[in-house]
Amino acid sequence: MQEVLNYIAGEFQPAEDGTTLYDINPALETQIATIPRSKSSDVEKAVVAAHSAQKAWSSLTLEMRAGWLDRIADALEVKAEHIAQTETLDTGKPLSLSRRVDAARSVSNFRFFADFARQQTPESFEMDDAMNYVHRTPVGTVGLITPWNLPLYLLSWKVAPALLMGNTIVAKPSEITPLTANILAQTLDELDLPAGVFNLVHGLGPEVGQAILEHPGIQGISFTGGTATGRIVARTAAPMFKKLSLELGGKNATIILEDADVELAVQGAVKAAFTNSGQVCLCGSRIMIHEAIAEAFIPAFVQRVSELKVGDPMLESTDMGTVISYEHLQKVESYIELALEEGGKILTGGTQAMTGHPHPEARGAYLRPTVVTGVSSASRCATEEIFGPMVTLHTFTDEQQALDMVNASEYGLAGSVWTKDLERGRAFASQIESGIVWVNTWLHRDLRTPFGGMKLSGVGREGGRWSMDFFSELTNICVKHPDQ
Ligand code: NAD
Repeated sequence: MQEVLNYIAGEFQPAEDGTTLYDINPALETQIATIPRSKSSDVEKAVVAAHSAQKAWSSLTLEMRAGWLDRIADALEVKAEHIAQTETLDTGKPLSLSRRVDAARSVSNFRFFADFARQQTPESFEMDDAMNYVHRTPVGTVGLITPWNLPLYLLSWKVAPALLMGNTIVAKPSEITPLTANILAQTLDELDLPAGVFNLVHGLGPEVGQAILEHPGIQGISFTGGTATGRIVARTAAPMFKKLSLELGGKNATIILEDADVELAVQGAVKAAFTNSGQVCLCGSRIMIHEAIAEAFIPAFVQRVSELKVGDPMLESTDMGTVISYEHLQKVESYIELALEEGGKILTGGTQAMTGHPHPEARGAYLRPTVVTGVSSASRCATEEIFGPMVTLHTFTDEQQALDMVNASEYGLAGSVWTKDLERGRAFASQIESGIVWVNTWLHRDLRTPFGGMKLSGVGREGGRWSMDFFSELTNICVKHPDQ
């Protein structure tokens, strides 16, 4: 079994009190690693290390730090297959997905921010009698807290801009998926990143996560995770006036207008619903279909879903692996039961699946992709974030009704609209209360664009200049022209 350690002040080390937690492989339900169960004393050490590295790191030029990001990207790229295999072991997601999405994006996050930094021009504002210059300094030591669904992908999405803008880091990955964060720490260590610039502390949210939130020496918190946890983060960090970025949950809609290309919409809706077993914050778990196209769309959608191969995540042929844990599987199943209580009917799925698994005796957190119809769009299973392979179908008769259903959600993260009329798609998208809306596509990402949610889905935006803004403080320097 692998022994994962914290990475503090350039040293791999156990929790100060020596306690550990187990990391579980959800496909076999076996223990694959131990991680430190860190406490506030470990966070304290990480903050001291970060502070001692802060001055030297922030005094490098942006260009020099962009160079570091390039070197990190190159080093991670060499390990891409190792990252993908490890991510699959830790999460149960198909290896093909870990390769295509998790490993690839972890590399491109660093490369993107390096390139993006080089394209920036100094910001200044000319007045008749003076010139304003925007001067950026780092926030300081920042706390980065991340979830289990896209472990290294989301951690690197924060680490890259935080390093670029001259911050030092205390990071906490999810205790459920700690392994690829450890690969990142090993990589930075091999590259001789100055000690203390990046510190990694493993452990439980209410223990080590909370200690990061509460530490007065941490000036900014970038958090991605559930809305309930986000509330705790805000409650703790906001009164300390820490800079705060909250990327939270969602209950995203996929809207099929009556003029949609049925084949394209079916493909897109299946992908939006069941990628990573429905465990992407952007997944479309409420599908709204115009009545005029429902007869063509619904049977084709259900057929395609029932053909998805659920099985061993290591197999090339697998479309969907496990969900993140057996406990999570039970949560999703409880929503399937709730759907039946709420008057729903299961069109496909609804039971655990072990197809293609090499160890059929293992319990494994497998669940077939499940499609439910007949529940109200205001029902609990159509309004609460389930974060698993289960979607509800709803029909509408006109655009306003569709918009009312979509915007009734407390969440506002993402959505997709499917129509052959692109102008209509744009107009419809602009009325959806959410941070991202795709027209005729899903999870199509340009890293320069703003990413984030409104309502219960979060506060603030990441991506491109929004990440650069979050990870820096701005000073406007106004210089008066002489004799004017
Ligand atoms: P979670 O909120 O349970 O945990 C996220 C992180 O917060 C983990 O590292 C956890 O240990 C830590 N944490 C828990 N309690 C804490 C506390 N009291 N103080 C500080 N840290 C604490 O979320 P999860 O179950 O790991 O991830 C799934 C959720 O994340 C879903 O709701 C999903 O929508 C959301 N998510 C959002 C985005 C986005 O960009 N908006 C992206 C991915 C996932």
